[in-house]
Amino acid sequence: MITTVVGSYPPLTRDPLTLPGKIAKIVGSYDKYKPAIALAVSDQIKAGVDIISDGQVRGNMLEIFAKNIPGMEVENETPKITGKIKPSPISICQEDFKYAMKIAKQISKDYSNSKKSFEKGTKGVKGIITGPSTLVFSSRIDGFYKKKEAAIIDLAYALKKEAQHLENAGAIYIQIDEPYLSTGVVDVSTAKMAIEIIVQDLLIPVSLHVCGDLSGVFNQLITFPVDIIDCEFAGIPKNLKILEKTDLKGKKIGFGCFDTKTDHVESKEQILKLIEKGVELIGSENMIVDPDCGMRMRKRSSAFEKLKTMVEACKTFSS
Ligand SMILES: [Zn+2]
Repeated sequence: MITTVVGSYPPLTRDPLTLPGKIAKIVGSYDKYKPAIALAVSDQIKAGVDIISDGQVRGNMLEIFAKNIPGMEVENETPKITGKIKPSPISICQEDFKYAMKIAKQISKDYSNSKKSFEKGTKGVKGIITGPSTLVFSSRIDGFYKKKEAAIIDLAYALKKEAQHLENAGAIYIQIDEPYLSTGVVDVSTAKMAIEIIVQDLLIPVSLHVCGDLSGVFNQLITFPVDIIDCEFAGIPKNLKILEKTDLKGKKIGFGCFDTKTDHVESKEQILKLIEKGVELIGSENMIVDPDCGMRMRKRSSAFEKLKTMVEACKTFSS
């Protein structure tokens, strides 16, 4: 079974250690986030994860995008929409993505993103964007848009550009994070239309991450034009019920197998038990195993141990 992460990793920024770094800091060109990306990448690879991320260390999933998309701003950590939303003139995540690829390749040649399929042993770096519905529903609308739906569609076009930048940079697949889709407040048909806009011209596979209780929305999510639906099963065990006698319509399930809301590291047996339930319900060929959600809020030691235990559980299962 292929293993992956949802995306974010504890953002351990670092002051420069070397003289050139210290000089760079004085002149303002030192980037304290780069060591955090390198650490996220190397921890994920050391833990044995197949498809990794750049760790999304530059801010939370909302501010990374809201800070950089024309028409949006961040005020007191809350995103707001202040004008017509347009694509960013430069890519928001491509530089960090490329840096993550560089570090990954230095650690292991396997992470060269050459295989674009989900076979056993496929390794690479994925590109992650926050979905338009989640971004709009987390933002205050300060003028221009009278309806959230119009803002969502404009954001979809802005994020489509970003997804293409990540594809061009070599992403093994694109993940769209849409946690708001499980809250019941989002109009699912607008959300679907927005996802369609983003994925339309992409050549690589697409995953949709929606954490939370999916009982009310899974039947609709499974009709979205994506290849993977990524859900949480450790924190929300009742999501397993959804997989009983369900038609996956050729999609794979991203199978969140450990709780990301706590630093407590689950035992290998506990994780294995959950994975086995998933295999029983949908078959290992339809599963990509990962954490329930991002790990930005976790301690580094706990994030690493959790990933390592997940990979060990998968290995036990496969052997
Ligand atoms: Zn999540």
